[in-house]
Amino acid sequence: MPEGHKTHHIAREHTKMFAGQPLKVTSPQGRFRGDAKKVSGKVFDRCDAIGNHLFYRFEGDRMIHVHLGRYGKYRTHGTPPPSPIGLVRMRIVGDLQSIDLNGPTTCRVVDGQTMANVIAKLGPDPLGGGKKSDAWNRIRTSTKPIGALILDQSIIAGVGNIFRAELFFELGMDPRLPGNEIHKAAFDSLWRTLLKMMRTGLKYGKIITVTRREAGVPLATLEGGERFRIYKKDTCPRCQCPVESIEIAARKLYWCPACQATPSRP
Ligand SMILES: [Zn+2]
Repeated sequence: MPEGHKTHHIAREHTKMFAGQPLKVTSPQGRFRGDAKKVSGKVFDRCDAIGNHLFYRFEGDRMIHVHLGRYGKYRTHGTPPPSPIGLVRMRIVGDLQSIDLNGPTTCRVVDGQTMANVIAKLGPDPLGGGKKSDAWNRIRTSTKPIGALILDQSIIAGVGNIFRAELFFELGMDPRLPGNEIHKAAFDSLWRTLLKMMRTGLKYGKIITVTRREAGVPLATLEGGERFRIYKKDTCPRCQCPVESIEIAARKLYWCPACQATPSRP
């Protein structure tokens, strides 16, 4: 599933491609056809990302709400676009470029009120200028493990399974630690590190948690697992112990029990 840096990256790219243009919006697959007609031909303003949600704003209080989910995927083409590949739910054609969207969880036309309702259910998005204190107030009063709280989109929007593993490893934090046993200073450092990781992800369009020095090559050239320190690794890069995995919030979390042993609040 794409994590928050990816939706912000997509929003930026699609705004650059289409801002100020009347867009042709269709649904080659058919499932989005009725809604597509509501915005097709209207002038597109910009695309906003909030957590893992995208909102394509059009004139007249209309917007396309997209959540990619696990299988959603965009393809970019020139104009005119080629024949649809697979089940294209939404096709947007601008002056010079076009995009196809396959397999999203959500793709619908909504108004500003519905958009506000979606956002109201989300926690602060670090990349969207969300307030750190909103997340802290939820975390410090919860007895759930921090490894579960961090994936809860109503507490912090935009964190997925890779950021989660990499974040706790960088912090040396035990992901089983209950929220109410976390020091304020440790949470501040968590937020700061998460923001740094998400900004790097936004810059490169992919999650990269190793440093230039650790990688030994320019970060932009990194692909696949070489971008990470702990996610799906066999051995810990710090202590060489075997990396373990535990299930927290129904997702597999990779961690090094030797390096991630944060003492709880005294
Ligand atoms: Zn280790």
